[in-house]
Amino acid sequence: MKSIMLEKDIAKKGIVSGAVKKIAKEEDINPEELAKKVAEGKVIILKHRGKYLGVGEGTKTKVNANIGTSPEVCDISLEIEKLKIAEKYGTDTVMDLSTSGDIDKIRKKIIEKSNVPVGTVPIYQAAIEAIHKKGAIIKMDEDKIFEIIEKHAQDGVSFITVHCGLNLKSIERLRKNPRKSLVVSRGGAFLISWMISNEKENPLYKNYDRLLEIAKKYDLVLSLGDGLRPGGIIDSTDSAQIEELLTLGELTKYAWENNVQVIIEGPGHIPINEIETNVQLEKKICHNAPFYVLGPIVCDIAPGYDHITSAIGGAIAAWKGADFLCYVTPSEHLSLPGIEEVKEGVIAAKIAAHAGDIGKGIKNIKELDFSMDIARTERRWEEEMKIALDKEKFKKLRNKFPLKNKDVCTMCGKYCAIKIVKKYLGTKVIC
Ligand code: SF4
Repeated sequence: MKSIMLEKDIAKKGIVSGAVKKIAKEEDINPEELAKKVAEGKVIILKHRGKYLGVGEGTKTKVNANIGTSPEVCDISLEIEKLKIAEKYGTDTVMDLSTSGDIDKIRKKIIEKSNVPVGTVPIYQAAIEAIHKKGAIIKMDEDKIFEIIEKHAQDGVSFITVHCGLNLKSIERLRKNPRKSLVVSRGGAFLISWMISNEKENPLYKNYDRLLEIAKKYDLVLSLGDGLRPGGIIDSTDSAQIEELLTLGELTKYAWENNVQVIIEGPGHIPINEIETNVQLEKKICHNAPFYVLGPIVCDIAPGYDHITSAIGGAIAAWKGADFLCYVTPSEHLSLPGIEEVKEGVIAAKIAAHAGDIGKGIKNIKELDFSMDIARTERRWEEEMKIALDKEKFKKLRNKFPLKNKDVCTMCGKYCAIKIVKKYLGTKVIC
């Protein structure tokens, strides 16, 4: 296989690549400035079948939807339906987290059907194959991990989660500072059990060079995972989490020296007053690499509504500088999400990203909101529905009760505040 030009390398040479030009147009930003940010690692480029997506400083906050089978629910057609509903409501990427069935086949199908970049967590497959072939995760073969990573890259995966910052030092930190919520990252749990049982260093940390070689071969973006993210706000921003982040900062610099693009994954569960600190820590320690937060969920009392707890956290995180939000669905902590939960999760994360972008001051980001404001004031219901993120819900609720007067809604009816004020104030709406 002949070597390919790496986006980071191109940008470092001061060249504005075709991908940068397309992203700059899409994001309405200056291509030279964008190329500089790619060179500095502040923005990464995800590629998928000739399309490009920019994630990072100055670009709109992006949203990811996790799909994939579980040992309990394994239906490839359901996962494709989830992919399509996630795309319909505007997800920017999907991650295939499948842990059962023919994982290779499922991944290939998702890549084939997806119109957005696809990410995976290859350690899942390595661990599951170890269970099937050798009877236990702790028998996972080190070489196999890298073979699977390369297979995912060959198939066309755009980014992979790799828990490279989880090392023996961070496990020691965890032991010295015990947690109530233990470890909730599946990849983190697989690696911790392997490292403790085999008394060996994490292969993804120890053989980071081998991983970088694969990433360079395919211009694969590494999403440096947070295997030690706290599983509840009871342990938020604790020493194990910070220990891992410190290592990720070092690994980020080393990846950049090798022209490999990285994203940093972050928690998880963070109380609202610690979100800004977490964003600042990541940006400072990881040299302004894009921050990909999993939620964050801001309180732990609302199972069934964690798309809301995470949207609150996601909006604040995005406002304060996070670049990429992983959605959380109402099924979080309860079950594998179905189609409806995927829809709700994507919409909640899109709202969070958009609200955060308004706070960030992304150029022209408020245009649609302003159009909605004017359409609402003039009660142009069709126009309002066109702008609405969820048009079906708009229609359903608009028609929930019989409409006696189609000019207003059933909230105030003939006492429509807007109509009353317009009559007496006589003000024309100014766009
Ligand atoms: S009836 Fe009330 S809620 Fe409905 S459009 Fe008029 S002011 Fe708004």
